[in-house]
Amino acid sequence: MLDLHCHSCFSDGTEQPEDLALMADAAGLTALALTDHDTLAGLPRFLAMQPKVRTRLVPGIELSCRFLGRELHILGLLFDPGDAVFRARVDTVRIRRNARNEALVARLRAVGVPIELEAVKQLAPSELVSRTHFARHLVAMGAAPTPQDAYRKLIGEGGAAFVPFENLPPDEAARWIHEAGGLAIVAHPGRFGGGNFVWAEAMAELRIHGLDGFEAYYGEYGPQEQRHFLELAAALEMLPSGGSDYHGTYKPGLSLGTGRGSLRVPDSVLEAMLRVRDRGMMRQPVQG
Ligand code: AMP
Ligand code: MN
Ligand code: MN
Ligand code: MN
Repeated sequence: MLDLHCHSCFSDGTEQPEDLALMADAAGLTALALTDHDTLAGLPRFLAMQPKVRTRLVPGIELSCRFLGRELHILGLLFDPGDAVFRARVDTVRIRRNARNEALVARLRAVGVPIELEAVKQLAPSELVSRTHFARHLVAMGAAPTPQDAYRKLIGEGGAAFVPFENLPPDEAARWIHEAGGLAIVAHPGRFGGGNFVWAEAMAELRIHGLDGFEAYYGEYGPQEQRHFLELAAALEMLPSGGSDYHGTYKPGLSLGTGRGSLRVPDSVLEAMLRVRDRGMMRQPVQG
């Protein structure tokens, strides 16, 4: 059993990278990927734990993209974490994120919330400032009763102060990851597009754009959703991936490895990925 999706305090989780490695070892996980949003900064400390834990520690990232006019997250797994070109490319995403954060402050002020970016930054343990930090600060300053309300009313998609990221298309994210030797995986497709969204066609399009696989197992899926996405992965000949999306105490009720309790990602998931990666069989985008 393994977990290929979690966050440390280098993005919007609460745990140190070393502690995630130790927790995975204690839980008996065969592998754990650290997939912080738009940063590689936690990986050196995470990967340095390798001789101390039996769990295989996998380099990862979760890149913020846009697809069909909405936010879509793309995971990179098993890339070379020292790849200088990839590092520079990830830095550009963080620059776009910082510009978004400044626009978000301006929009919040325009709708009557006198927020200070400096105060939000204080809540972020690293250079990466996320809307999770905005949501916590908005609650602390009394602008919303709960983080959920902060997203719904203000900073979430459809909120009065919502500002999207400058567009990073999925094919570009996949190319960056492939050029660093890794696999490109669509994160939590069941959490994109709403209940009536038909994934069969959209995923076929992402496949054409060079995505290697998607999360068929996820901490917040029910059994029916998991079955649906496993069948879709088989039908499209894409790699199934899976993870908890553990954020520590920022997302209560989710555990490393087991998600809401019933998540079990089999070891065969990583074995299949390694076969593809080691043979350099990453999906090439169809030109057209
Ligand atoms: P960012 O990457 O800074 O745009 O922030 C995205 C993160 O904010 C997501 O990964 C979620 O953790 C959180 N988030 C955004 N919208 C919502 C929402 N409606 N409900 C709960 N969390 C949300
Ligand atoms: Mn997050
Ligand atoms: Mn995500
Ligand atoms: Mn995540």
